[in-house]
Amino acid sequence: MGIPCRKTDYNLQVRTMKFIFSLLLIICCLYSEAQIYTTKHFKIFHSSLDDRNIKEIADSLEINYTRIIISLQSRELPVINIYFYSDASNFRDGVKSWARNLPLWTTGLTRGDSAIHIISPDAPNQDYKEMIKSTIHEFAHCVSRYINNTIANNPRWLWEAIAIYESNQKPDPRQVSYLVNQKPPALSELNDWSDTAIYDVGYFIAEYLVLSKGNAVLNALIKNNGNIKQTLNIDDAAFTKQWFVFVKKKYGI
Ligand SMILES: [Zn+2]
Repeated sequence: MGIPCRKTDYNLQVRTMKFIFSLLLIICCLYSEAQIYTTKHFKIFHSSLDDRNIKEIADSLEINYTRIIISLQSRELPVINIYFYSDASNFRDGVKSWARNLPLWTTGLTRGDSAIHIISPDAPNQDYKEMIKSTIHEFAHCVSRYINNTIANNPRWLWEAIAIYESNQKPDPRQVSYLVNQKPPALSELNDWSDTAIYDVGYFIAEYLVLSKGNAVLNALIKNNGNIKQTLNIDDAAFTKQWFVFVKKKYGI
């Protein structure tokens, strides 16, 4: 019995060694995958996928940082953690414990005022420049939330309009059929989760506010959760008419 027993011990040792070695290899791989790039205002968690462009991406974020906090009249935020996911399915998997029932078109999310979870600009099937803009969009959400921690999607029209405007996600209004047909959506429609019109018109609503009333108006609306009556002394319907007159004139529709 002695010899087979020693052979079993030996086999067990070999298996244990193999196991430990595999474990170390996995830990090393994971470690080399998760990297951190730190700038003055951001801590970016990314994978080797972004190695080549991470400085360029971080520089774009830093360039927009001061402009956006000045525009929204905010103080400096705490350092913002950005988590880049290597593709859409990793992103959905990574946020599923706290963000359920995400619409299919969601590519990024904020968590509180100092964390952004988003698909990497370098991910396959993503437009690199658009995803940098989307990251800046999520940062603008963080700033709004830092000014008023009840502003997230409350109201949705203002929350999205500000982020779309500050990240310069500007569509061509002459390509938006209901604008061409002179039917601007009401604020109540823009607040409806099943409606994506806010992504077409949000830029122009915020642009109208800034160009006709000045930057302070965005800060005031963030603070009072989009209370048009209190801020502009008009009702929602009159506001819709006003921004649409501005768009018609400026863009010729
Ligand atoms: Zn958004």
